Parts: sequence; structure tokens; C-alpha cells
Amino acid sequence: MNAPRLEIDLDKISHNASTLVARLEGHRIGVTAITKACCGAPIVAQTLLRAGVTSLGDSRIENIERMRQSGIGAPMTLIRSPMLSQVDRVVASADISLNTEMEIVSALSRAAGRAGKVHGVVLMVELGDLREGILLRDVEDAVETVGQFPYIDFLGLGTNLACRSGVSPDNRNMAELSALADRIERGTGAPLAVVSGGNSSNLEWVFNGGEIARVNNLRLGESILLGREPLHRQPIDGLHTDAIKLIAEVIESKAKPSEPWGTMAHAAFGDSPVAGGRGEISQSILALGRQDTDPRGLQSPTGSDILGASSDHLVLDTGGNMLAVGSEVSFVPDYSALLRAMTSSYVIKTFVGTAATSRPNPEFSMSSLSSDAA
Ligand SMILES: *Cc1c(COP(=O)(O)O)cnc(C)c1O
Repeated sequence: MNAPRLEIDLDKISHNASTLVARLEGHRIGVTAITKACCGAPIVAQTLLRAGVTSLGDSRIENIERMRQSGIGAPMTLIRSPMLSQVDRVVASADISLNTEMEIVSALSRAAGRAGKVHGVVLMVELGDLREGILLRDVEDAVETVGQFPYIDFLGLGTNLACRSGVSPDNRNMAELSALADRIERGTGAPLAVVSGGNSSNLEWVFNGGEIARVNNLRLGESILLGREPLHRQPIDGLHTDAIKLIAEVIESKAKPSEPWGTMAHAAFGDSPVAGGRGEISQSILALGRQDTDPRGLQSPTGSDILGASSDHLVLDTGGNMLAVGSEVSFVPDYSALLRAMTSSYVIKTFVGTAATSRPNPEFSMSSLSSDAA
């Protein structure tokens, strides 16, 4: 088998998605599944839609275009504010975008007019995490401005927490969002279709009895793909945490001292000095490195320990168990390791599960990515 490769189990992803959809339905919250961590792979998108998510979202227009080109007609939201230079592509492929800048919404309106379309806009509100968002005091003015653009359909409000500063969604900031939604409706006299409360980090708040109030949508990526909530990286009850595996091949296995020798200077990536003093260990090198993934985000098999990584070598203490050259080791990636592995053209993407075998051409590679972009 080819290595390194990602093995993406579509049945497990489907289970995770349908479980979250069902649990959130009980709170009248719809799920927009976020495909950015799998680079908008169409087979994953189709799996998510079959599992019951109502719409798809991605941060990059290239990924949305790829899903459209493969024939996916579901509603799609560009979840990163559009680039001014891409507004025509945005209105062509995305139904909705999340926005914070009136200059961009204005350009989206003109682009939509040229394309003979109406583009949906959700305004993002800053609630303390200090990434994207309009400050509370400016939101009502922004709503009024957006209402004047002829080819824009103002759909509602959204917010995003826990991505830059780790500010957690709680009853206080979520109540601010709901109160703002109420206030805007009183002002405009029209109901807001969308109040998008956030991402996977909102699940803890929802499932621990948070006051949902006006929130009727969440944008979920990590929790569906990895089965964990991002705040404390704890597994979510009943979800698979091993739907995606990263597999690498052993290219050297030797008993080696744990302690390096010679005059010590900087390592290639400025890592801290090797912790020696454990005598001789069984050490394997895998053909996997920082050009393929984020080695710090890999969970190694029980009994083994990642000792270090450079561009293309990963050094593993295999706990006395000498691995054969040519054998494979399987890791569970965290979000960061997954993102980089999906994006690396050196990592092969394979899809397993009934959802993969029942469909032609399940292979997705970055070569198709670059030809799409061309
Ligand atoms: C990435 C992202 C999400 C999804 O976040 P997860 O933690 O993966 O669920 C939602 N909204 C926005 C704006 C994002 O950038």
C-alpha cells in the first residue's frame, strides 16, 4: 500500500454527523457541516449531506468550487469573509457568505447583480474572541447598510468563538447574540432566518443545558470528523474518535542509545534537546515529516512515543518492540495534523467504508486540487 496515507472512514464520519444532527435537532439547531479540514473532498461532502446536515460550509472558495464541480447542489456558505478580489467567484458558487466589512458586501452586491443573482449574507458579531466580527455597537448600523444593497439578502447573525483566544461559548455571550437578534428584528420588522451560534466549541454549552434562545444553527467541522470538542479535546459521547487515521511506513529500525553524542548545537527545527538517560531503546524511523503533517498533533499507538520529527523523518520509540522495515504504523491525527496531512500533496487520501465502495472513483488527491485551481 502507498504511504503516507490518510484513511478516512466515511461510515464513521456519517455516524458522527447523523448523531450530532439528531442531538441538535432536539434543541432546534440545524447543522452546517464544515468541510475545510478535508479540503472540500466531494465524497466527504456527499457523506455529510446523506447523514442529514442541512448545508455545507468551507473557508475557501476553491473548495466550494470543487464541490460544485462534482455536482453537489446543496446550500453552501463561505465561512471566511470573502476576499474583495474573489467576489465574482463567491457569488457564482456560494449561496451565502459570512461578512464583517461593508465594502466587501457592497462588492458582493455588485457581483451578484452582474451574475443575475441574489447573494445571502450573514453578519458576524464580535463577542470577545477577537478574530472576525463586527463590534456590538456597530452591528445595527451594518444591518441597515446591508439592507440597502439591491442584490444582497440579509439572512441573519453569526459569531465565532474559541478560535483565536479560546473564549468559550457560554450563556453570557450567547445571550448577547440572542438579544441582538431580537433587537434587530424589532428594528427591521423582519424575522432573522439565521442565528449561527458558532462552531464545535459550542457543543459543550448546548449539551450541558445552555440557554439556546435564538441560536438555530451551528457550523461543525472538528466534532464531526474527529469526534471531539475543541475546548478540552475530550471525546464526545457516542462518536468515533478514529474516523481518520494517518499511516506511515517504517524505513529504519534499530536499537540505539537514547542519548545523542558530539558537540550540541541547534536541531533543524529548534527543538529542545533530546531527553536521553534511558539507555538503549528500540527506535524506528517513519517516512513521515513536517512536510506531511503536524507531528505534535499525532497520537501514536499505545506503548510507542514520538521522539522527534524533521521535514521528512519521524523518530519513534517503539517501546522495546522492534518494528520490521516496510511495516506500517497508524496514528490518530488531531485537527492541526489532519489539516496539514489533507493539504500535503505527499499524503495519499483513501476512503474506506460502505459509502466509499458504493461509489466510483473514491480517490481524492491534491493533483486534482491543482488541476481544479488551474
Ligand atoms: C473552521 C470554522 C468553523 C468550524 O469549526 P470547528 O471547530 O471545526 O467545528 C466554523 N466557523 C468558522 C467561521 C470557522 O472558521
